[in-house]
Amino acid sequence: MSPAIGPAGSQGPANRIALLGQEPDGLRAVLGADLESWGEPGYRLAQLVRWIEEHRARSFDEMTDLPAGLRSRLTDRFSLGEARAAFEARSEDGTIKHLWRLSDGIQVESVLIPTAHRVTLCLSSQAGCALGCRFCATGELGFTRQLSAAEIVEQFRNADRISSEAFERPIGNVVYMGMGEPFANAGPVFESLTILHRGFGVGARRITVSTVGLVPGIRMLGERPEPFRLAVSLHAADSALRAELMPVERKYPLDELMEAVRDYQARKSRRVSFEYAMIAGLNDSVALARALVQRLEGIASYVNLIPYNPIPGRDWGPSPPDRIDAFVSVLEAGGVPTAVRTPRGRDIAAACGQLRLERALSGQAD
Ligand code: SAH
Ligand code: SF4
Repeated sequence: MSPAIGPAGSQGPANRIALLGQEPDGLRAVLGADLESWGEPGYRLAQLVRWIEEHRARSFDEMTDLPAGLRSRLTDRFSLGEARAAFEARSEDGTIKHLWRLSDGIQVESVLIPTAHRVTLCLSSQAGCALGCRFCATGELGFTRQLSAAEIVEQFRNADRISSEAFERPIGNVVYMGMGEPFANAGPVFESLTILHRGFGVGARRITVSTVGLVPGIRMLGERPEPFRLAVSLHAADSALRAELMPVERKYPLDELMEAVRDYQARKSRRVSFEYAMIAGLNDSVALARALVQRLEGIASYVNLIPYNPIPGRDWGPSPPDRIDAFVSVLEAGGVPTAVRTPRGRDIAAACGQLRLERALSGQAD
């Protein structure tokens, strides 16, 4: 438990307007209308917006330069987030993971990952996930519910405050790689992109949306004017093997997926990342590395190889270093830039959905 985290004074009426879910124009319109009807001076709106967007205020009580009466009116009418930290784990390597308890008791995860130059936040886009990838702890839990834009943005707002305290720097990068499939919750996810970028000032190039390969979502991201980054979870360049690991392959097969990626790239001319979990003896052969090179031909890509993070209930293991090295050599010889991602926060189960699954299995969560 971490009582210091979570909004103070959030016990107002249940049907308050969630300000963190408002796109910047809407936020100003919604607040401005009430401030005006309450007879507040014109400068109040900018003052309030600054508290929310720049200072990341978690409650109106923090806004000490507003009159107490106004703060209590605002608290009755608007919400700045309802999530509370149900659990916090700090890894030896600096990674900090949170389980956030939402207003209905559902829990989602976010992870702060510090590196030498910046802090990355990995956030959740859904509670659980319906796509059922066989290697994924979140897939194992199944789907619980969609997150609202406000609940997505609130993970950022809360984590950014913690980042400033723990690492003395704000969050530099945001990746949608926590629980859930962002494009299966497209409306709120796209709203949250706008809010993080235009409201909270996170550079679009510093926000990455990771997808299992939902083609309509990739096309929607391609139509956005901002240069948000795309990551595609591939895990196998062979359609039959991919279908075994990822049921989504039956709906959006590799050929169609790669065509969408090519179209995306033609519009955005941005490098696309591909995620590839290396599972020992399953998808890590040299022949499959060659198949991957072929699939990526003509696409400006970047491959992230992630040693598979074992999850309870599967007896798969991560590929040993020599298999990974051989795989990397084939990709590099094929001209595909590749990185092997060092697992972070292993000691605190920091992989996608893992902490919640482990706590659920041991009866500690939900
Ligand atoms: N649903 C999205 C984003 C969340 S998963 C997606 O699938 O892309 C974030 C990344 O973690 C994905 O690349 C996913 O495939 C990967 N991942 C999930 N479980 C993993 C595991 N046990 N080991 C390694 N990577 C895993
Ligand atoms: Fe869902 Fe992504 Fe996990 Fe697949 S890897 S089950 S899409 S969260």
